Amino acid sequence: MSTRTEVAPPAAALTPDGAGPREAPLRMSAEEFRRLGHQLVDAAAAFLSGVPDGPVTRDESPAELRALLGGDAALPADGADAAALLAETARLLFGHSLLNGHPRFFGYITSSPAPIGMLGDLLAAVVNPNVGSWRLGPIATEIEAQTVRWIAELLGYPADGGGLLVSGGNMANMVGLFAARAAAADWDVRAAGVAAPGARRLRVYASAEAHTWLQKATDLAGLGTDAVRWLPTDDQLRLDVGALRAAVAADRAAGDLPMLAVGSAGTVATGAVDPLPEIAQVCREEGLWFHVDGAYGAFAAAAPDAPPALAGLALADSVAVDPHKWLYAPLEAGCVLVRDPARLRDAFAYHPPYYHFGQEATNYVDYGPQNSRGFRALKVWLALRQVGRNGYARMIGDDVALSRRLHARVAAHPDLEPGTQSLSITTFRYVPADLRAGVGTPEGEAYLDALNRALLERLQTAGEAFVSNAVVRGRYLLRACIVNFHTAPADVDALPDIVARTGRDVRAALDAAGGRGGP
Ligand SMILES: *Cc1c(COP(=O)(O)O)cnc(C)c1O
Repeated sequence: MSTRTEVAPPAAALTPDGAGPREAPLRMSAEEFRRLGHQLVDAAAAFLSGVPDGPVTRDESPAELRALLGGDAALPADGADAAALLAETARLLFGHSLLNGHPRFFGYITSSPAPIGMLGDLLAAVVNPNVGSWRLGPIATEIEAQTVRWIAELLGYPADGGGLLVSGGNMANMVGLFAARAAAADWDVRAAGVAAPGARRLRVYASAEAHTWLQKATDLAGLGTDAVRWLPTDDQLRLDVGALRAAVAADRAAGDLPMLAVGSAGTVATGAVDPLPEIAQVCREEGLWFHVDGAYGAFAAAAPDAPPALAGLALADSVAVDPHKWLYAPLEAGCVLVRDPARLRDAFAYHPPYYHFGQEATNYVDYGPQNSRGFRALKVWLALRQVGRNGYARMIGDDVALSRRLHARVAAHPDLEPGTQSLSITTFRYVPADLRAGVGTPEGEAYLDALNRALLERLQTAGEAFVSNAVVRGRYLLRACIVNFHTAPADVDALPDIVARTGRDVRAALDAAGGRGGP
């Protein structure tokens, strides 16, 4: 017997004579849309102006939040008043979210959202183009193509290449890997697969600091995660190019097919920039596809005094960037660029090129994994137009300057130990003066790891300032990433004392709970 309650659907409600507009529960009159829209925008504006005065996040449990939603309430059979529903939902989101637009949000590489992007998402949804095909989204397709070109320009990447918007850095990197796979295989890998008879084992090279997208991508592409050669790094956590050469040679000698080398333009943990020009050189000599994971850091190429290695971006066969990081687009917006647009068609298309009025028209369905596609480009395009190249250069440059300022403040603090500083990521840990003697000893390090782990947990729930963590050469460090145009010098200057004060409390609690009092 079914435990579900059977509910008879109401009879359809079309007028018998077919005259007049159709009655449909989701329809909204223009007047009502205007009224609700104004209310929502007013509420959003009030919320945004109050963000700096509130906490970054609240310490709430999954159970508390589920209870707010009515626990296991069933799907409502009938609808609700739209105005009340929107007002209630706005309060729900404003009051129970982690606010990455807060000036003291330093956690992860998630940016504060640009207001013009918020409005852009609304505008995109109003028109709702399907940017999978030119015919379904004519102006949207052209805006996306222009966005891709402008992003290339911002990076110093050839603007006559191709690319498209995707959901984020993971997908942008994956698209690059699929393009590399189709280009590298000397058999029809798309039809016959990676394990075709006589196929050589495809190999991928990246530093041990590369992001986890590479595991997902090699898994999904059928290569298997074992296809990746994780290479050692130098003292600044950058890929060791000598090790790359040696690994490629060893794999060739073993009969494998080296396919792709990945360089990071800003690693996720510490912002290290791999020696991109040198990796490009190896790829050229060895016939490998050169992909740059610039999801976090590639946009720093637009800022004053960019790391010189970023000049190597221009040499890549493909580059992944994340407009929802350093272009401050609201989630989601990733972007992949390729030197030769035909390589994306080679990897994804099942149609011949499409011509419209005698010109080749872009059908993005043929350039990436998606079929129906939203208009992600609009929010990015609007922000690029609102502030231009100079606006971005200034905001990214200021984020980097603030990160360096934080590193100097941490170094000057008696209870903090500075770690790495690169791009806009600073790492450090809490090491009060009486624990300094234990640094580098096994017991001292174990205690500092436990202490900083507990400290991070407290910082992430207390809401005063939000940081994340990195493990650098086996040590557990706190990590502040500034991808946030709201963060001001005063926010950065406040962080060391917040961390040290919280650290004292956490240490007392840890020791009282039976932890050790230090070495
Ligand atoms: C963030 C990041 C990614 C993943 O990007 P998502 O947008 O989170 O999918 C990949 N690589 C690096 C270096 C990153 O910083």
